[in-house]
Amino acid sequence: TVPVVTVDGPGGSGKGTITQMLARRLGWHLLDSGALYRLTALAALRQGVALDDEPALVNVAAGLDVTFEPTPEGEPVRVILDGEDVTRDIRTERTGDGASRVAVIQAVRDALLQRQRDFRKAPGLVADGRDMGTVVFPDAPVKVFLTASAEERAQRRYLQLKESGADVNIDHLLDEIRARDERDMNRSAAPLKPAEDAQVIDSTGLSIEEVLSKVMALMGQ
Ligand code: C5P
Repeated sequence: TVPVVTVDGPGGSGKGTITQMLARRLGWHLLDSGALYRLTALAALRQGVALDDEPALVNVAAGLDVTFEPTPEGEPVRVILDGEDVTRDIRTERTGDGASRVAVIQAVRDALLQRQRDFRKAPGLVADGRDMGTVVFPDAPVKVFLTASAEERAQRRYLQLKESGADVNIDHLLDEIRARDERDMNRSAAPLKPAEDAQVIDSTGLSIEEVLSKVMALMGQ
């Protein structure tokens, strides 16, 4: 079987950066599962589908016409929805908030399940999300749960947004992170928690390289 390493954890824990770098170093495929929830929210907003209209959201999720195009090192993977580049649109706070709303719906999660499993192709897969180790790839030989304090995650997000020229407030970001954590952990559909056989890595105060070498060590590399 094709090997998978799962990296789950709350938003802002550094999963995105770590999994992109890891996939590149290993020459493996990458699944950014959060992007699928973001795309479902974005497509719904664009089609005028309410974020609590379950049957319509299931159709949106099942019918997503999306491709992930590889890019040069250091650039985020290009995300194409219905032929349009939405790489930036799916990263807005509004879409992120919408994603965490549609993600509470079990039927939406079910509609995205097989699409996620299809990313498992030779020579291997790095899977980034909330339920990669618990639901989507329960048989993965290496499972990581990446955390960081809410304050550190807010700080990282703040720097990221400021760099992109956005007008941001750190206290507001901290509130949003806490609200998103709350929703992710307390929902009944695939709540955010480490798999029983996951290794927990707290990245508070660690550099990207330090986290990366911890993950590589777990993989025996
Ligand atoms: O990781 P990212 O911030 O892109 O995820 C957006 C939202 O999608 C999360 O807040 C979470 O609610 C949801 N999500 C999920 N399961 C995943 C990945 C993301 O429920 N595997």
